[in-house]
Amino acid sequence: MLTVEEAREKVLNSVTLLNVEKKHILECLGYVLAEDVYADYDIPPFDNSQMDGFAVIAEDVAKASPDNPVTLKVVENLPAGYAPTTKIIHGQAARIMTGAMMPEGADAVVMVEDTQTGGINSSSFLFNQTFSFRNRKSLDGRDVKIFNSAKKGEYVRFRGEGIKAGELVLAKGKVLRPPEMAMLATLNCAHVAVYKRPRVALMSTGDELTPLGEALKPGMIRDSNRYGLYGQVLEAGGFPIDLGIAIDRVEILEAKFRAGLEQADVLVTSGGVSVGDYDIVKDVLSKLGEINFWKVAMKPGKPQAFGVVDGKPIFGLPGNPVSSLVVFELFVRPALLKMAGHTDIFRPTFTAIMEDSVTNDSGRVYYARAIIEKRKDKYYAKTTGSQSSGILLSLVLANGLIIIPVDTNLEPGDEVEALLVN
Ligand code: AMP
Ligand code: MG
Repeated sequence: MLTVEEAREKVLNSVTLLNVEKKHILECLGYVLAEDVYADYDIPPFDNSQMDGFAVIAEDVAKASPDNPVTLKVVENLPAGYAPTTKIIHGQAARIMTGAMMPEGADAVVMVEDTQTGGINSSSFLFNQTFSFRNRKSLDGRDVKIFNSAKKGEYVRFRGEGIKAGELVLAKGKVLRPPEMAMLATLNCAHVAVYKRPRVALMSTGDELTPLGEALKPGMIRDSNRYGLYGQVLEAGGFPIDLGIAIDRVEILEAKFRAGLEQADVLVTSGGVSVGDYDIVKDVLSKLGEINFWKVAMKPGKPQAFGVVDGKPIFGLPGNPVSSLVVFELFVRPALLKMAGHTDIFRPTFTAIMEDSVTNDSGRVYYARAIIEKRKDKYYAKTTGSQSSGILLSLVLANGLIIIPVDTNLEPGDEVEALLVN
């Protein structure tokens, strides 16, 4: 039997990165960048005001205070989005809004709250009066009283202060989240190279399986694995392709498998990899290419199949509903993430404190389903009722897994390694 780590290493060593595609940034959420992105220009591209207020020459207002205001002549009104037309000289100021370009000559901004225009506080003046931001001349010729000093550079955002032209801003391998999408827009990159995400063909196998909506005949059960796996593929950023149910007939399985490999980058099957008389998935997978049937020292999910055919990974997951979901979580999910260019592919694990008792005498590492809760900086875990690999409810009630080593009994208060799955 392989350990989970050994099996996972074999899987990850044999999956490779998918091809690169150019995509519009609006379609790139969650994708991994496949190129380095540099800035073509400085950001911000020009010196601009960080405040609504008045652009001044710092020297002019060096002695300004509430008791001893300095009076300046307003020569221009600068909303954001317009280039100044006047150079500021001593004794002058320009009304300026946040983000507006600093006028030549000015080297500081005094915020509007520290000023007065027309005898009243400038901010209320601007708010109350029939003042048009678009009327660039509306304050011209008025006096502004400045009640506070400003240091050179105060409330000025300087050209290139965020990013310098030529700088590497987003490196290959970066996962594109909303901040990266905004950054790419800032850099005027409409399209970027990203790694493709895997298309994953999914199939349930077994004569007993009935699709949704059809009446259950005696001896038949509902097919649930395909739906759970479909969600897991989506969650891992893949594109699921639903191949439906295949009955346990060699020709049917083979046709479906081949169809899956044609359309998809990855093939995932559930059921038929154990030692039962009708577990023929194994035989059919073997016909496709070199597939390993291995027993992994884990509970649930011991029997599994894995191989790579024409560069495409094939996972034969066990049929028991809990096993199929847990094996996907531990093996398929990291493989899909790796194929899409991610390097951070494992769920973080942490230590939790047991709140009930669990015994692991299975001789395999036991992934028990648990509710994990954080209380006052510590994590606590309790198992979710019956843990048989057919009891799907144990996963429905859980938000994580606890990893119980071989031959270990855990009592309340004992520490256990845990991971959150959602
Ligand atoms: P198998 O590995 O094919 O022997 O299946 C193991 C157990 O899982 C059996 O009880 C199957 O009926 C059940 N099973 C297999 N596939 C599915 C499925 N897609 N949905 C629900 N249960 C399944
Ligand atoms: Mg079966």
